[in-house]
Amino acid sequence: MTWYFGTTEGAPRLKNWILLFLIFASIASEETSANFTRVYGKYLQENAVQKGPEIKSAPSVRVLVQKSRKDVSISGLDLKRKFHLSNRTKHFAGRKKIKFKCSELRSADFNKPVLLASLGSSAGLLTLNNDEKFNGLIHVVSSRDSESCDVVHETDMDTYIAGLLAKEMNSKWPIEALKAQAVAARSYALHKMQSGQVRKEAGFETFYDLESSEKHQVAGNFFDVNPKTRSAALATSGQVLVNSRSKIAPVFFHAKCGGQTLRPSHVWQNKVDSYTSVKCPFCENHGQRAYNSKLTLSKIKKFIYWAKRKGHLPASIKEHMSKPFRLVRDKKFNRKIHFYLGSHNYSFKKTLLRRYFGRFIVPSNNFEMKVIRKNKSAYFQIDGAGLGHGVGMCQLGALDLAQRGWDYKRILSYYFPGHTLSKVY
Ligand SMILES: [Zn+2]
Repeated sequence: MTWYFGTTEGAPRLKNWILLFLIFASIASEETSANFTRVYGKYLQENAVQKGPEIKSAPSVRVLVQKSRKDVSISGLDLKRKFHLSNRTKHFAGRKKIKFKCSELRSADFNKPVLLASLGSSAGLLTLNNDEKFNGLIHVVSSRDSESCDVVHETDMDTYIAGLLAKEMNSKWPIEALKAQAVAARSYALHKMQSGQVRKEAGFETFYDLESSEKHQVAGNFFDVNPKTRSAALATSGQVLVNSRSKIAPVFFHAKCGGQTLRPSHVWQNKVDSYTSVKCPFCENHGQRAYNSKLTLSKIKKFIYWAKRKGHLPASIKEHMSKPFRLVRDKKFNRKIHFYLGSHNYSFKKTLLRRYFGRFIVPSNNFEMKVIRKNKSAYFQIDGAGLGHGVGMCQLGALDLAQRGWDYKRILSYYFPGHTLSKVY
């Protein structure tokens, strides 16, 4: 593991540097624990044995693990700490806990995040905020919006993948399903890194490649790695899916498609190369079978106003909002909802309903919308199946296929027929 010496882009003014230096120089006292080595020694040993040559060649990935912390504490054995603003590095023998009082940062003076400190342990394990444990490096970055810090974990790609499998799938599932998930998650992360997407969207250096969240992928910590997830990560080390132009693809996955997967363009604005919608009868007997949700006409009207504001429906629709609403008969795999206001015909992408009402009311994009009339009133019913956005690999489908004896290559080629498996490191 090498040290990450990040630079601050658009450096803050000198007085802020001094202020930050003073804050970060006020470090908490050293703590000793005779039991530390005894308690964690076995994990450290295991880790040393498992680190093979493949791990060494894996690229490092920087993952945002905590946001907007008022305080950050990092402890470990034989800590090495670097303050980036003063360019000072210090090594602490034995056990040490370092606290950062981020609430004292005057971040209003900064218009960009600043990389403040990086910590590593030659013994391998770092404890973040007396709770989660990580291998690799931890970076402390000033938050842009508040007087607080963000925490970034940097580790090699395959350790990241091994921890992620317990969070994004289930480490008890068959190894071939885990291997398919490992390739999918590695492709997703490497695409984010290569494209610099997070930095480009932010418009400034973020000091991380992707978030640990449902928005990106949920990362695990040291204790989420077990022999099975590590073996799935190492058996597929360096393997990714590439698109028809041989570029590392943004590979998407979801819990359950409910019968058919979707293309990225069905769900999001942007078009992504090489994706196909495939039939998937394999997830049917796994997870929740079906769902139904009710929506009132007033909620649908609010949705229509929102869709108009966002440019998904024409602005002129507001002139017809008082006219009678009529839904055109919908079917499960239709991509659009068509409706009339009086004699005026409109349509919108079906997936907008999930985006607006959220995943608790609309768990998947695979549903049929109906009008239910009862006495003199009427409401809308969403009858659906599946869980998640529906794009790319269906995880419960992959589970079923692995149980039938399919290997990960066959599973991936089923959900990504336009992509090719490639080894990039
Ligand atoms: Zn499925």
